[in-house]
Amino acid sequence: MKSYNSFDVAQNQIKEASRILNLNKATVDLLSWPQRELNFTLSVRMDDGQFRVFHASRIQYNTARGPAKGGIRFHSLETIDTVRALACWMTLKTAVVDLPLGGGKGGIACNPGQLSQRELESLSRAYVRACASSLGLHKDVPAPDVNTNPQIMAWMMDEYEAIVQQHHPGVLTDKPMQIGGTQGRRDATARGGVITVREACKSLKIDPGGTFAIQGFGNAGQRAALLHQEMLGGGKLVGVCDSKGGLVNPNGLNAKELVSHKLKTGSVSTFKGGKKVPRDSILELDADILYPAALENSITVDNAHNIKAKIICELANGPTTPEADLILKKNKIHVIPDILASAGGVTVSYFEMVQDGTLDFWEESQVHEKLDKKLTKAYQTVHEAVREKKVHPRLAATIVGVARIAEACELRGWV
Ligand code: GLU
Repeated sequence: MKSYNSFDVAQNQIKEASRILNLNKATVDLLSWPQRELNFTLSVRMDDGQFRVFHASRIQYNTARGPAKGGIRFHSLETIDTVRALACWMTLKTAVVDLPLGGGKGGIACNPGQLSQRELESLSRAYVRACASSLGLHKDVPAPDVNTNPQIMAWMMDEYEAIVQQHHPGVLTDKPMQIGGTQGRRDATARGGVITVREACKSLKIDPGGTFAIQGFGNAGQRAALLHQEMLGGGKLVGVCDSKGGLVNPNGLNAKELVSHKLKTGSVSTFKGGKKVPRDSILELDADILYPAALENSITVDNAHNIKAKIICELANGPTTPEADLILKKNKIHVIPDILASAGGVTVSYFEMVQDGTLDFWEESQVHEKLDKKLTKAYQTVHEAVREKKVHPRLAATIVGVARIAEACELRGWV
């Protein structure tokens, strides 16, 4: 199987959108590279008393529209180019939803499954010690991503506050509610995705009550399983998978029971309510709506031809390779691109920053309502660009994002 450098993919997306927007060379060059990259080597004492060294980074891709914003991933295959690509996509994502934020991303190359809670805490605190002077509500605000969660954010915030010697809850988002978190953050990525599916079904005149499948069953995938049915008034979940395997049931899987099974046992494929299948077959299932909610580069030339979904809602970052994208386009599959479909998380993160800054905390219904408005508007803006520029939704979303970022750079006198 071909391997992809996600940063090459991201740079090409920026260049293609810039060409259509007729941007000058300096602007394209500026938007094609991160503004600032921090690399650090962290030394952590493990439970056996020995020290172990980890490589980590934080990238502030572009801050013309506001402070850098984006998650921190703990993953064994993390490379500087993956983090660059993800930081670039965060910048586009915050611009597509029109948040007053830039984009960033961080990562630690590690296998969190092999670390104890104490080791995870030490690693998280070491990360913040390495970059504390570059973080802050008005500089760079991390959040969870793959294999990180509110507990890790709590440790990181605590370490930051110990360094700056004051409360500073807005330094990170998706914290536990008790220490400055917001209502509605945990299911925000999935909720945002389902809102875009609702809008897509309306415009394509597709019944949202049909079948759907989910590839990847981490936080976003689990929440999508529950919210799809709740928010769209029905829908049959016919297949799911996680890194350990897949599960199908053409009569529908019970989403609630499946989520609690996953939380209890760590896998979906041992759930009794369906038939075990190979993990990757879920993408090719006969389902109206497909949610890729795992890692980058899952939809490739090897499976894109076999995808039967009418709508693909990309909850993961960068799940589709460029070649696969062309196949989906040719097959007239409506792709809701990651920088729109997965923007719900960062949108509610922004709401959390606002609440932390004002110490005025909102009801859950207020968060849902504001998120719905933001994502519905972003969906409509992207689809106006589809019509106006006669391009597919991914390019249209990139054009919307790049135009807004370029405008901010220009107004600041950077280009
Ligand atoms: N990690 C999430 C994303 O990729 C959320 C980032 C954030 O809330 O800052 O969109």
